[in-house]
Amino acid sequence: MAHLFQVDRVRLLCSCGVLKPITAIYFCRHCLKLRCGNCVSHEVDTLFCPNCLENMPSTEARLKKNRCANCFDCPSCCHTLSTRATSIQAPSPEDPSKTVARKVYYLACTSCRWTSRDVGLKDQTVATGGWAEQDNEHYKELQTLLEHYRSLAQREKLEKERKRFSHRKSSYFSMTDKYSLPSLIGRKSLSPLSPYSPKGDGSQTSELTPSEAVEEVEGLPADIFTEEVNLSSITSMEQRMASPEWQPEKSSDLYPLHKHILVKRSLRCRHCEHNLSKPEYNPSSVKFKIQLGAFYHVPEVRMVQQADLKWGVETSVQISLCNPTPHDMTLAFLPFVPEAHIAAQQKGEELGEGGSLNTSSLVRVVDIPVEKTDLTPTADVALPQGQLILTARDDTAEYDDQDANSSFNDDPQVVAWRRANKVGVNLLVTPQSGAKRAIVGFVLRYEYTNTVATATESRTVTLNIPVMVDVGPVSE
Ligand SMILES: [Zn+2]
Ligand SMILES: [Zn+2]
Ligand SMILES: [Zn+2]
Ligand SMILES: [Zn+2]
Repeated sequence: MAHLFQVDRVRLLCSCGVLKPITAIYFCRHCLKLRCGNCVSHEVDTLFCPNCLENMPSTEARLKKNRCANCFDCPSCCHTLSTRATSIQAPSPEDPSKTVARKVYYLACTSCRWTSRDVGLKDQTVATGGWAEQDNEHYKELQTLLEHYRSLAQREKLEKERKRFSHRKSSYFSMTDKYSLPSLIGRKSLSPLSPYSPKGDGSQTSELTPSEAVEEVEGLPADIFTEEVNLSSITSMEQRMASPEWQPEKSSDLYPLHKHILVKRSLRCRHCEHNLSKPEYNPSSVKFKIQLGAFYHVPEVRMVQQADLKWGVETSVQISLCNPTPHDMTLAFLPFVPEAHIAAQQKGEELGEGGSLNTSSLVRVVDIPVEKTDLTPTADVALPQGQLILTARDDTAEYDDQDANSSFNDDPQVVAWRRANKVGVNLLVTPQSGAKRAIVGFVLRYEYTNTVATATESRTVTLNIPVMVDVGPVSE
């Protein structure tokens, strides 16, 4: 790693034990904890087509296999296809001996110049829609498979439900439960799994014969070794896999692909169920209704200067701290104890990171195993003692010529400079011998002014955010 971006250099320790840059972390104002993509629940808010920006309800999206009906991707390069209009000479409907100009439409790729005419698709007389769908010869088989797996899933669900019940009750109850299951779960859900039902009613067994492996496979065409290969007429693996149902081998069989629809996600804190990020419903809007990025609530730490680091030599490095909140902040550095965080990490794992989760609501909880992050610093750091004041963010400050430094009683050994809501701080770093990069850790303790109106909590709270900074490469 010759070069690291600023965001990768300074990483915060999320409450779930993963190190993430500040741009990838959220701050729950209700739990007052850092949350990242690993420890929040992700919910689909809106489904929309990225090309025509049309909203789609989830049931419709499922029916359309999560693809837009009107927009197409180029089967050759996956760029969006655009509709082209052209006029052709066609016989007039009134007098067949005369010709009139008629407007027709075809699909063309502006990136690779593929057109729907290349594969012999007839031009359309309307600008949108009208393109014939390809028939899949395996459609019926796929449907039976889907049906079969759906019933298997249902059965599993019922089994689980039954097990849960029998755990609590005596065996007698579990027996009665078994037979009253239809009324419990609903007749509808049981019907596809009649073959497995306790009554042994096999009348609805799905006609599924399992596929069998065969020894003999169809031989290759005879001319495959003699004919010269024309690569431009053969599709690439990506092109084939873009339409898994057909997997065209020849480029003349490429067919426009319906565009995949995208989703807008909202993120929810798994512990208090408050939203951490919620986009605007409208697909054309890039704004958020709620966006609790840590960037707006946690002081930002940056590396300022690259210093020449040597094993065992104490070197002064400069970091900057920036207050993003509209309130003044008191800040202090505390030593980073990796063992404490590793222990917390393991404890969180034992609890399944969700000992206190509220699973009663509809929030989908997916347990993502905690990544093992290396929390061992490779350099010792002498942290500045005492407290620092970080002034509130003021958008007009950059027009201010006045130097306000004098009003702070700063130790010049510690504070290198001050500018509006930013402050430069010197840290003394001693890389351990043998380390390739000097990584230091410290805990940022700061006063956070909570703007969430709660009757019980005080408005200002003290928070500790563990930070790990990659100071730079070390040489002998
Ligand atoms: Zn996390
Ligand atoms: Zn579309
Ligand atoms: Zn293309
Ligand atoms: Zn929360």
